[in-house]
Amino acid sequence: MDIRDFQQLIEKMYSHKDRQRGSAGTFLWLMEEIGELAEAIAGNHSQEEKAAEFADVLAWLVTLANVEGIDLSDALHAKYGRGCPGCGLMVCTCNEKA
Ligand SMILES: [Mg+2]
Ligand SMILES: [Zn+2]
Repeated sequence: MDIRDFQQLIEKMYSHKDRQRGSAGTFLWLMEEIGELAEAIAGNHSQEEKAAEFADVLAWLVTLANVEGIDLSDALHAKYGRGCPGCGLMVCTCNEKA
């Protein structure tokens, strides 16, 4: 499943709830999931548990993009598809933070 397919899947499954909640509420959920990921990495958790938290974070990031009307696949291609946004190279040689 690529990013575009995943964003469409999340849209189909949850958009009726997500649009009601709005960006601010969705952002809070994303931050909560980031916290769960931090806990999974810091604590003594299995790879399966960590993987599930990574999935949650991406799902909520995609959800926020849906609520905001952002196509993440397009955004990724536009910003990173032709190389590092800082130096333009495929193997970065700069100190720029994206
Ligand atoms: Mg979670
Ligand atoms: Zn660079």
